[in-house]
Amino acid sequence: MYNHSAMKSSRRLTSELLRKLIQVETTAQRGELAAAEIISDELGRSGIDCRIDSWGSNRANLITQIKSGGRKSGLLFVCHLDVVAAGEGWRHPAFAGVVLGTPYGESEGKIYGRGSVDMKGGIAAAATAIKEIVDSGVRLEGDIVFFAAAGEETDSCGARRFISNFSKKLPKLAGVVIPEPTDFEVVTAHRGMLWLEVKTEGRAAHSSTPELGVNAIASMKILLDELDNYRIRFQPHKLLGGCSISVNTIAGGKEINVVPDECSIGIDIRTLPEQQSQEIVSDFEEIFAKLKQKNSQFEASVSVMREVGALETDSSCDFVKDFCSAVEAGETKAVGFTTDGPHFAPLGAPVVIFGPGKPQLAHKPDEYIDIADLEKAVEYYKNIILKFLV
Ligand SMILES: [Zn+2]
Repeated sequence: MYNHSAMKSSRRLTSELLRKLIQVETTAQRGELAAAEIISDELGRSGIDCRIDSWGSNRANLITQIKSGGRKSGLLFVCHLDVVAAGEGWRHPAFAGVVLGTPYGESEGKIYGRGSVDMKGGIAAAATAIKEIVDSGVRLEGDIVFFAAAGEETDSCGARRFISNFSKKLPKLAGVVIPEPTDFEVVTAHRGMLWLEVKTEGRAAHSSTPELGVNAIASMKILLDELDNYRIRFQPHKLLGGCSISVNTIAGGKEINVVPDECSIGIDIRTLPEQQSQEIVSDFEEIFAKLKQKNSQFEASVSVMREVGALETDSSCDFVKDFCSAVEAGETKAVGFTTDGPHFAPLGAPVVIFGPGKPQLAHKPDEYIDIADLEKAVEYYKNIILKFLV
């Protein structure tokens, strides 16, 4: 279908775009603006105008819409520009975009760096596919909308901002495609996420007279013991299994000679589509009330730090069936991580996650993507566009 030199230049374009995106280090501290500008420049070379929606000193979403004849419903690609921090243990620098192997030769290379898999590889491949479709001059009958969000790894601020400001301007959509790393599996479901902060409150006192205070760490111990017996109620889900709960942070006390007046824990709960977060929060409040009955000095509170719904797209709908045939996939899967997908489900179009890279490499040291996978992804995204929009 493609001649060899065209294939090579597309591979180089995708790889170089990915390396530039890795190098701008879009962690929570640095923001996304530089990455949005790189994509805008690259798409601009094919005459595609992007809108960069920026706020604060460095936060940014990128939005572009390629207008069509309009006889068909459009496709919305949803990416995220931000990455998690590098962390420790890298053999290759996390933000250099190191290429190993013989990237443009017969044997395939790899690109290392934070974000190579999650999800700048998917961004580079989708952007290249869109460029090549536009450059080819093929007549589209449905619009392509490409959206790259800020803040997916922290609070989904970019997705929420897009939905509240732009969702009314979107064309009718056939489907939403999220190029997160799935190693080319078609993913239609993931669990949701509920992050809770639970605080116990005490009363500070000099620790030579602890009986004059109320020790918040001791209260937390009582609560943690109680949580050992707590089971969140759920009906097991056929694709997603069960709901999980894990206490992952604890902080309390300021000085070694002061009875602590506050202790807090961070709890990560992964939820199923049917579950209501308010029910879980109420469970905690009931546990607090029970402990207070036993000990009137016990004081605790719970607050929701972050909430992302679960995703469940009907895998038997026409869009998903046609999508699977465009990418030669037999069946749909669920994944363990969450995405911005649930923010887009209210648009009413089926949401599918599909992209290059091994999801188990995400958020790890020496995250890398195979250049061959980038190229495969470009071909798949072009097939998807041609299948639905031509
Ligand atoms: Zn991601």
